[in-house]
Amino acid sequence: MPRPIKCRKVDYNPGSKFFKPAGIPVSELEVSVLALDELEALRLADYEGLYQEEAARKMNISRQTFGNIISSARSKTADALINGKAIKIEGGHIAMAERKFVCLDCKYEWILPFGTGHPEKCPGCGSVNIQRVKEDYSVSSRGRGCGRR
Ligand SMILES: [Zn+2]
Repeated sequence: MPRPIKCRKVDYNPGSKFFKPAGIPVSELEVSVLALDELEALRLADYEGLYQEEAARKMNISRQTFGNIISSARSKTADALINGKAIKIEGGHIAMAERKFVCLDCKYEWILPFGTGHPEKCPGCGSVNIQRVKEDYSVSSRGRGCGRR
């Protein structure tokens, strides 16, 4: 039985999901698919400038797995830039971060996907006295073969 792939935690939702060289129709382009975990690796290591150990910890994966992901991400990106390919960002074994909130008045707790903004009021009682629960960090499964933890 193959070892199940551990989900990579992704804290970021890319706004743009398709990049292509200007002036060339998509039908004439080769498209390179960059998985969301590869993009997250690029973001943490090359954009935020984190050490691989730290970036791996943020994605909840081993340093070695992170090394494999970032190397694949860099190679695909370089290939697209140099050979004029389009880049499509999708898929990957990822677990999107969720944020948990609690109402300080009625103690109601609820979860929102990452990137949806801070809620204005409690869905239970309508109170604005709400707070994000930071310590209880949960993730939901979004990718193929990702089990709920
Ligand atoms: Zn409430």
